Amino acid sequence: MDTAILDRSIPEIAALVQRGEVSAEEVARAALARIEQRDGALNAFLTVQAEQALEAARALDARRARGEALGPLAGVPIGLKDALCTEGAPTTAGSKILTRAAAGAARAPDPARGYRPPYDATVVARLRAAGAILPGKCNMDELAMGSSNENSAFGPVKNPWDRARTPGGSSGGSAVAVAAGMTPGSLGSDTGGSIRQPASLTGVVGLKPTYGRVSRYGLIAFASSLDQIGPFAQDVKSAARLLEVIAGRDPRDATSLDAPVGAYEAACGRDVAGLRIGVPEEYFAKGLDEQVGAKVRGAIDGLRGLGCEIRPVHLPHTRYAVAAYYIVATAEASSNLARFDGVRFGLRVDGERGGKADLQALYGATRGEGFGREVKRRILLGTYVLSAGYYDAYYLRAQKVRTLIRRDFDEAFREVDLIAAPVSPTVAFRLGERVDDPLSMYLADVYTLPASMAGLPAISVPCATAPAPDGGPPLPVGLQLIGPALEEARLLRAAYAWEQISPVRALRAPLA
Ligand code: GLN
Repeated sequence: MDTAILDRSIPEIAALVQRGEVSAEEVARAALARIEQRDGALNAFLTVQAEQALEAARALDARRARGEALGPLAGVPIGLKDALCTEGAPTTAGSKILTRAAAGAARAPDPARGYRPPYDATVVARLRAAGAILPGKCNMDELAMGSSNENSAFGPVKNPWDRARTPGGSSGGSAVAVAAGMTPGSLGSDTGGSIRQPASLTGVVGLKPTYGRVSRYGLIAFASSLDQIGPFAQDVKSAARLLEVIAGRDPRDATSLDAPVGAYEAACGRDVAGLRIGVPEEYFAKGLDEQVGAKVRGAIDGLRGLGCEIRPVHLPHTRYAVAAYYIVATAEASSNLARFDGVRFGLRVDGERGGKADLQALYGATRGEGFGREVKRRILLGTYVLSAGYYDAYYLRAQKVRTLIRRDFDEAFREVDLIAAPVSPTVAFRLGERVDDPLSMYLADVYTLPASMAGLPAISVPCATAPAPDGGPPLPVGLQLIGPALEEARLLRAAYAWEQISPVRALRAPLA
């Protein structure tokens, strides 16, 4: 079967389907075929909804045949992070707690037995309305907690550039769906880097919008003041098209912003001469892999060559971001995760206390068995920092640090239009390498957390490949661009300009 259509950009695929040069069904079949061929080795998809996808594609083809206009994502297959609710289809957020236990002795959690939400997340509804085809749900770190996908209850996702390595996390499945050419785009969520870091580690474009730009309704919550949904794609324009579809005010999410949606796709192609780009020295300090640093600086030189003005900026509170984030995020998580108690959703394990089955025992047994180690660690940390006597010392302080981080950016954006930085301090690390060392895992987020804490939009765009310090094939490196609130169009414009001169433009993972 010819699946080459999937290597086209999202606007190209949609145009072909709109003109009837390719049917939506053919495109859907191509995506399903590639998932079938490639995902066995990658584990990016937890569930595949083949029948529903084909049915939706045929309905779209029928509408075209009747002369109806199709939407901006006509026939485009999009992978969905499994934290996004899909009506009637299994939704697990990578956790055993959202799966019903199998009957009998079989204890291994099965994503097909996942919670089936009675409604679609707003972004899912918007994708469907735009004509997208949704072939399946993507693997992720449990409840979006992690930076390597190794916290998934359903096994890690493999990086298609080197399957011994992590694709990053927590949206690793969504990144790999795109990096391995299975779907031309996907959605992930980013609380502290979960779109940008896996995009960087797998060589695709990943964008975290401004906090509130995209509705969180129907996203299984991790840390509500940080969570934001965003797109992955092979190229900047495709990501822009996806963002344009999912962005905008939603009355069902009180934190969604009532600002007009930008002309994101039209911004791709506009000149960048004169754009002032800040380079924060704090992001190029100790801990940054030398090769990664050199590649990112090379990309910044490329932007200079396009007429951008490059200036140093200071973000002095950067070094407190990891500590403050892991207080705020765990505090919010401990509260959000209280809902998983065995009563309404997913797993239920009837426990006993003193020989009696009661409600406390049900909670304890369900949560004890349903949550993985990292999630339990976060619940404990979060409960601790919110508890009487510690609240002021930890949570309140972290909130103050958050304000300082935000002010750093406010100051910098008085001088510059965008900030350029690395995404991840290293290329993709080996699976297993950091699982027993949570601190080294948390430090992987050092360059993505500040923009999250400040609620700012940020993109990762592929800028190079570099050898890993421990050998193996060359691996992707991402350039991060951070913008002022609601300046997604400016981010995309600069990312697009860079992409046109990037040495890795259209470079594909070896498997794809
Ligand atoms: N790696 C970070 C964490 O584990 C960020 C995760 C995310 O953005 N969802 O919390």
